[in-house]
Amino acid sequence: RKGIPVAIITGGTRGIGKAIAKKLSLQGMSCISIGSSLSSINAIDINDHLHFTSPEQRHRSMAIDLTDWPNWTTQTRNSKKLTFPGYEYTDDLQRRFHENIPLFEEIWDKNASNTNYYVNLLVNCAGITQDSLSLRTSTDEISQIMNINFLSCVSLSNFVCKKMIRSQNLFKRGEMALDHELPKPPPPCIINISSILGEGTIQVPGTSIYSASKAALIQYTRTLSQETETWGIRALSMAPGLVTDTDMIQEMDPQTRQQLNLLMGLNCTTSDVVADDIWDRYLRGQ
Ligand code: NDP
Repeated sequence: RKGIPVAIITGGTRGIGKAIAKKLSLQGMSCISIGSSLSSINAIDINDHLHFTSPEQRHRSMAIDLTDWPNWTTQTRNSKKLTFPGYEYTDDLQRRFHENIPLFEEIWDKNASNTNYYVNLLVNCAGITQDSLSLRTSTDEISQIMNINFLSCVSLSNFVCKKMIRSQNLFKRGEMALDHELPKPPPPCIINISSILGEGTIQVPGTSIYSASKAALIQYTRTLSQETETWGIRALSMAPGLVTDTDMIQEMDPQTRQQLNLLMGLNCTTSDVVADDIWDRYLRGQ
């Protein structure tokens, strides 16, 4: 069967995740963009957000509320597969809604059953921020931050690793082959988007739980990369500074935003620059 590489991008509806989906689709990858709800994935605009540059390229979006960890990790309908509602997008720029799309489906087109869509890149990008002191942050908010920013990333990494091992084995046994009309994809990769606040060099009052979730993600990824090396799976984290063109920053309390601007100084960037960096790291593996 012919293997078509797929990227899963959480937070793919807006901000940095949207820029990443745009970049990866322009580079020929098939993308699964994950957002929190049907209304957020409904806003995905094929022309602006997702592109078609190669013949078997297809895209999907899925609504998964990551605050609902660990429940979302067992969501199945009529089969043992993890399924979620979402859309399929085809190169005639049409989209079709499905109540239950398996997150890890290999045959995307029943008329092309010799084409295998395999996950070669996971970008854990979904995240929420915090702008209250720890003592004023409710238990619900704390669990939402940890569920989205850290625990869902761990579960997705685990699911994806198993799929990546399987596809590597299919290639080794000759049961799946690369599409020679496309550039050879790099080895499988997991990229976790952390934050400069998780690196420990800057402390901003009002972001304690957010910073802790991002620090946990960095350390998790460091150790994960040692664990997955044996299967040729790369795991890396990125810690952007202030990405000014996103809703996360635009909707922030102006005082906190100003404080962050001052603290970050030269560490300000845009979503497109982060997306270019992701593509570069996926190719280079660093
Ligand atoms: P935005 O607020 O613009 O977008 C957040 C994304 O996360 C959206 O796609 C949103 O989906 C998704 N998301 C939020 N809650 C959930 C949920 N419950 N379930 C599933 N998806 C959810 O954020 P940014 O683009 O700015 O940030 C992206 C990542 O980059 C985050 O992890 C953030 O911490 C990190 N980061 C951001 C920086 C910045 O300055 N902006 C700096 C450093 C790191 P939906 O549309 O459905 O709400």
